[in-house]
Amino acid sequence: MAELPDHVATALRTLATPACAYVYDTEALRTAAARLRASLPARTTILYAVKANGHPEVVQSLASVCDGLEVASGGELDLAVRAGTGRIVFGGPAKTDTELAAAVEAGALLNVESRFEAERLAALGFTGDICLRINRNDVAVTGSHTMTGTPTPFGIDENQLGSVLASLPSSLTVIGFHLHAVSNNLDGQAHADFLRDAISWSIKTASAYGINLRVVNAGGGLGIDHTSAASIDLAPLSQVSVPDGVELILEPGRYLAADAGYYAAEVLDLKTTHGRTFAVLRGGTHHFRLPAAWGYSHPFTVLPVDEWDRPYSRPSVSDTPVDAVGELCTPRDVLTRGQQVARLRVGDRLVFARTGAYAWDISHHDFLRHPAPEFIIL
Ligand SMILES: *Cc1c(COP(=O)(O)O)cnc(C)c1O
Repeated sequence: MAELPDHVATALRTLATPACAYVYDTEALRTAAARLRASLPARTTILYAVKANGHPEVVQSLASVCDGLEVASGGELDLAVRAGTGRIVFGGPAKTDTELAAAVEAGALLNVESRFEAERLAALGFTGDICLRINRNDVAVTGSHTMTGTPTPFGIDENQLGSVLASLPSSLTVIGFHLHAVSNNLDGQAHADFLRDAISWSIKTASAYGINLRVVNAGGGLGIDHTSAASIDLAPLSQVSVPDGVELILEPGRYLAADAGYYAAEVLDLKTTHGRTFAVLRGGTHHFRLPAAWGYSHPFTVLPVDEWDRPYSRPSVSDTPVDAVGELCTPRDVLTRGQQVARLRVGDRLVFARTGAYAWDISHHDFLRHPAPEFIIL
């Protein structure tokens, strides 16, 4: 794993023992957004998908460098409104009437996910533009979570689009389609092909149904590799051409937020049982569930802490593979399996990089009622 940036290491060294913290580096958020912007074709809009990391300062930082925010609940909508963003898009298959009303009040563009939702929206008195989220028949893209071309609760089945449009309340004007289809795609060429296909399908479909197409929303899915420093190659995206009069919307979450996050946890104990060595941490999957949810080992960096002022000897291991495990009473509380360490001592800190997205936000914080980590915003 790469070395920790100095300012992150410095912040982590100053934590009180036993250390447990997330660090969010706002400069890294801005860097990721700038890198993405530089790689996208003209007429592309970047909306940060708040569900990746809803920490208010992360949302605020990304709102200021992206064109707006994509939200999927009333709670995220509130965050977006408070961040004072220029543009909000609201999607998700389970919007309540209260959430729909709040979205209308906030001036958000709605990705409508069913005919019934369209009816409820019209009944609230809304008149104006919407996008329809479509579950297409085929999607030529690979990634870890496939959401279209397969039965899911997301969007309207492409085969039902004609009947939905024929019975849509007349106060709603369809201006485009939302086609989010993949998560964590690491293949830039495949993602560029997906964008081209989304655009050409939208043009063809709009023309078949007499829709004046203004928006093609291709959702998120730009990938990063949580086990290395690799990310999707953005270069092929710049070759996509967006026709005049059409806005291509992208809603990246992981790509923008992951690299800004570091999760640090102090080693509370070291033990070897039945031939495996475990570093038991003040922390675990209740703070950072992704490795357990996805079934992979998340690499760590050792941040050595040399001070030791206790009147007993300090447990230490060297040149051995270690499992990094948490403080929960379950054998599934594992962040990393078998990572080789040159030396590791009780009191040292393990730092997990690339934990700014789908880390704290997707974890089961209250299981066992340990205290939450500190949150340090740089
Ligand atoms: C989750 C989600 C995103 C963000 O996906 P990433 O893989 O984090 O880029 C964008 N749009 C929608 C509709 C989503 O559900």
